[in-house]
Amino acid sequence: MKYVSTRGQAPSLDFAEVTLAGLASDGGLYLPQEWPQFSPEEIRAMRGLPYPELAARVMQPFVGDCLTPDRLRELTEKAYERFAHKAVTPLVQLNEQQWVLELFHGPTLAFKDVALQMLGLLFEEFLSRSGGNLTIVGATSGDTGSAAIDAVAGLDNVEIFMLHPKGRVSDVQRRQMTTVRAPNIHNIAVEDASFDDAQAMVKRIFADETVIAKHRIGAVNSINWARLMAQVVYYFAASLQLGGPDRKLAFSVPTGNFGDVFAGHVAARMGLPIEQLIVATNVNDILHRALSAGDYSAGKVTPTAAPSMDIQVSSNFERLLFDVGGRDGAALAEQMRGFDANKAMQLTNAQREGAAALFTSARADEHDTAQALRWAYEQCGELIDPHTAIGLHAALQAEIDPSVPVVTLATAHPSKFRDAVEQATGCRPALPARIGDLFSREESYVSLSGTYEAVRDHILENAA
Ligand SMILES: *Cc1c(COP(=O)(O)O)cnc(C)c1O
Repeated sequence: MKYVSTRGQAPSLDFAEVTLAGLASDGGLYLPQEWPQFSPEEIRAMRGLPYPELAARVMQPFVGDCLTPDRLRELTEKAYERFAHKAVTPLVQLNEQQWVLELFHGPTLAFKDVALQMLGLLFEEFLSRSGGNLTIVGATSGDTGSAAIDAVAGLDNVEIFMLHPKGRVSDVQRRQMTTVRAPNIHNIAVEDASFDDAQAMVKRIFADETVIAKHRIGAVNSINWARLMAQVVYYFAASLQLGGPDRKLAFSVPTGNFGDVFAGHVAARMGLPIEQLIVATNVNDILHRALSAGDYSAGKVTPTAAPSMDIQVSSNFERLLFDVGGRDGAALAEQMRGFDANKAMQLTNAQREGAAALFTSARADEHDTAQALRWAYEQCGELIDPHTAIGLHAALQAEIDPSVPVVTLATAHPSKFRDAVEQATGCRPALPARIGDLFSREESYVSLSGTYEAVRDHILENAA
């Protein structure tokens, strides 16, 4: 399997190379050259498989010759053994039509664990073959940082520098990052910065000659293809439990960087019957405007009760535009240059029609979010988190034939956002036991002024 860049200029890579590369050298994102296909018989034969085995079946065509089927099975077994539920991603029924797919049973309580536990093992596997070290630099509004740190803590040839905007992540999120004491973990709190400021610094690091001349810089956010690949699996898992491939399903996905919902698009491309993918946004609704009116224009970020979705520029949307817009890298590179200059662009007709074949969208404000949270608790006895509530709001509003199950992806455990949950429902969700003594462990992080130079120099001085 070969991977190509959405901007058409970077060399094509194999799976091992694409996993270590992150962003393509032309500024684009990597995608498989063509989509692997499963026939209905092949999908039917996956029914009843344990999750790690299903994961290996779904991922194998993407991995190509880079891992043998046996080795891939060993890695998926290991990646999912720390999940607190045997099913890894269990389904919960809310009413006749509505279901919730719980993706938060991993070590750090958000769906990011499903992909990052696997990605950490892939880094280790491929680096041990090629030799050398990987220096990961990332920015987080909370969930990616904790999941990535958990996944790579203690690895020999990977180190991680994780930037978070000081004072703008929740206590649980910060402690999940800063109480992990391993020599390869470096937490940086950036003062007077938003998540967007921290993210902009990371992008500069990737292009800074003084850094990349000395260090191989890797990515753990969803620009990394391997993360999306691991997320395709749970669309299959949900479908197989609800009658697939002989019955269509709709999915409602709380969306920020468009990674999770793009994995649903990949599942559909591979032959999984999907009726509709609902892109659920909060008031930071650039994707809703893009999908409903073709207007992809970034505004200012408004903080909400669902901080992991407070994003204005969704990196992975570029992958969709490429895939449904004719796979023309040169044209897309031109279009993205226009977006970088103006922070706005119009989708082409081909892009709009291609997206509309599978995607719809909806937007929830803070009132809608609290109302959906209350509905789940009072009508169904389920506590959900604010991100999931945005997805559920969209699912309840969608016009979908009553015979089609609608699955909302539950992206975080309610205890990770317990203040917002308590405010809406009056019930304060307890932290699960696997979090341990999070609030009595010692924290370790440096605070740096919000200048790029301060952050870069800290990385240069401390990277191995
Ligand atoms: C990251 C995250 C999202 C958004 O996922 P994308 O793949 O960026 O669209 C939604 N909910 C939670 C809880 C998250 O951590």
